[in-house]
Amino acid sequence: MNFQPLSESEWRAKLTPQEFHVLREAGTEAPFKGEYTDTTTEGIYSCRACGNELFRSDQKFSAHCGWPAFFSPLAGDKVIEREDTSLGMRRTEVLCAQCQSHLGHVFEGEGYDTPTDLRYCINSIAMRLEPKE
Ligand SMILES: [Zn+2]
Repeated sequence: MNFQPLSESEWRAKLTPQEFHVLREAGTEAPFKGEYTDTTTEGIYSCRACGNELFRSDQKFSAHCGWPAFFSPLAGDKVIEREDTSLGMRRTEVLCAQCQSHLGHVFEGEGYDTPTDLRYCINSIAMRLEPKE
């Protein structure tokens, strides 16, 4: 990994305004609008900001929540989790471990029939799917 931290103006030049808002300002894309919400294509989801590989398609599940949902990150050290008390809620924010961009939130104990009972609720615009050959 040879990722170099970027300044705000460098991020603005690299990302679209919508990508910048989600990744660098912790925005949330509209539900059911993201390009990967219902995608079942096999492949690896990478951070759209830096290319860090984050999630695998076989850990993605249909949560019907309006955003792509994964029950586990590809590896625990690919993401950072930290407490987020914005909007008057106590949530756990998920960030890319390499570039510290905002990806989404993780929720637990919701009763989904998955191996972890975790739901990584990730903005489509924060990722890029590299389909398996
Ligand atoms: Zn990243």
